[in-house]
Amino acid sequence: MADIRDETALLTIELHTNLRQPWEVPPETRPGRVTVIGGGIAAATLAAALLKRGREVVLIERHPALAQEGSGNPAGIVMPRPAARNDAETRFFARAFRRALATYEELTEDAFSACGVLQLALTGKEERRLAAFLALGLLETAEGRMVGRDEAQGLTGARLPAGGLWSADGGLLRPRRACARLTAGIDRLMLGQEATALSRTATGWRISLANGETLESETVVIASALEAARFEVTAWLPLAARRGQITLTPPGTQSARLQAALVFGGYMTPLVEGRHAVGATFDHSAGGPQTVEAADHRRNLATLSEALGDILPDQPEEALQGRAALRAVTPDHLPLAGPVPDHAGWLEDYAPLAKNAHRGGLPPARWLPGLYVMAGLGPRGLTVAPLLAEMLAGQICGGTEALPGEEQALLQPGRFIIRQLRRQQGAAG
Ligand SMILES: Cc1cc2nc3c(=O)[nH]c(=O)nc-3n(C[C@H](O)[C@H](O)[C@H](O)COP(=O)(O)OP(=O)(O)OC[C@H]3O[C@@H](n4cnc5c(N)ncnc54)[C@H](O)[C@@H]3O)c2cc1C
Repeated sequence: MADIRDETALLTIELHTNLRQPWEVPPETRPGRVTVIGGGIAAATLAAALLKRGREVVLIERHPALAQEGSGNPAGIVMPRPAARNDAETRFFARAFRRALATYEELTEDAFSACGVLQLALTGKEERRLAAFLALGLLETAEGRMVGRDEAQGLTGARLPAGGLWSADGGLLRPRRACARLTAGIDRLMLGQEATALSRTATGWRISLANGETLESETVVIASALEAARFEVTAWLPLAARRGQITLTPPGTQSARLQAALVFGGYMTPLVEGRHAVGATFDHSAGGPQTVEAADHRRNLATLSEALGDILPDQPEEALQGRAALRAVTPDHLPLAGPVPDHAGWLEDYAPLAKNAHRGGLPPARWLPGLYVMAGLGPRGLTVAPLLAEMLAGQICGGTEALPGEEQALLQPGRFIIRQLRRQQGAAG
C-alpha cells in the first residue's frame, strides 16, 4: 500500500513539475553555510534536516535556551488533522503527520512518547467526518482507525462518552527536549543573540545582531514565528498572533489512569511530570509577552467537563498551573515555507494578473537568492514542522522533493502576493 502511494506521489510530482506556474518553480540551490534565525521546533527540525544533508548550520536564538516561546509547552500532541475532502491540503496534513512520526520516533522516549491519541466522535456528524477522512486511505492502520466506545476505553484507560479516531502511533512531544536532540551536532548554536537586520552581500546575506556584531551566510532561513516579518525584506508576510493557554492540573482518581491523549475540541494529556495538560485556548492577540489568566483555566476546564464529564474532580484555583504563548498564523491557516520572493519584483512582473487572473506567459520568478522562511506554523506546528523542514532542506540542498508541487504551492510564501494581485482583478471587474 505504501509503495503504491509513493509511486502516485512521484507521478504527481512529475505532473506538477511540468504544470508549475513561474512563481511556483523554486530557485537554484547554492552551496555554503545555512544560518537559521529562531530556536523553536521550526528551526530545530530544519537544522536536523540540513545536518543530515551534510550542511554547515548556524542557529541564532534570542533567548538563552531553545523553545521558550510557541514551542515552550511541556508537551504537545502529534496527531492527524482529519478532513473529509481529498484535496491537496488534506493530503499535506496527512503526509505531515506521517513525516512527524518518522522524525520523532528517532528521538528518545523522553522527547516523544507514542502513547496513542483518540480524537473523540462526540456527535454523529463528527463520526461521519472522521470515517470519511479514513476512507481517503491516506493513513496506515496504526496511524488512524475508527474505534467504538468500549475499545476506546480499553485503549485509553478512561471512561468515555464515545469512541472515535484512534492513532496508535500518535502521541506526546516534549518540544524542549526534542529541540535539544534535533540540534545536537549543530556547527554553531548562538543562544541569547537577537537578529535585528538582514542585508544582501555578493555571496549571500549579512545578519546584524542586537549586540552590534554581524555574521555572514550564503543561505538564511527565517524561522522566527511572528517575528519573521520584522525584517525589511519580509515585512509584507501576513502573520498574525493567536494566544493559547494550557492548564496544568493535578490528576483525579479517574484521570490518573489515562494512558493516551484525548482530543475533543480541547485536549487532555496523560500525566506529564505529575500533571495533565488541558488545552488550549485560541484567541486573537496584539502580541507581546503573555501571562497566565485564571479565566482561561476556567474555559479549558469547562470544555473538558462538557466533553468528558467528571474525568477530573473540581480543582481549586490555587492547584492549577499553566502556560500561555502565541501561535503565528496566516490568513489561509497554512504555514509559510519556501523561498522569499523579491516583493517589489513580483508586484511589477506579475502586475498583469491584476487585469487577467489567468494570464499566461509571465516571466520566471525573481527570488531573494539564498533567503527562505519557515513560519506561521499555527496550532499544528509540532506536527507539521518535520515535513516543512524536509521540504525546505530539499529546496536548499537539492535532491528528491519531499512533497508534490501542488502541496509546495500551498505553502510557498509568495502565494499571498499572487492572491493580492488576482483580487485586484476581482475588485476591478
Ligand atoms: C497553547 C498552545 C498549545 C499548542 N498545542 C499544540 C499541539 O498540541 N500540537 C501541535 O502540533 N502544535 C501545538 N501548538 C502549536 C505549536 O506549538 C507551534 O506551532 C510551534 O511551536 C511553533 O514553532 P516555531 O518554531 O515556528 O515558533 P516558536 O517556537 O515561537 O519559535 C520561534 C523562535 O524564534 C525566536 N526569535 C524570534 N525573533 C528572533 C530574532 N530576531 N532573533 C533570534 N531569535 C528570534 C523566538 O525567541 C522563538 O524561540 C500549540 C501552541 C500553543 C501556543
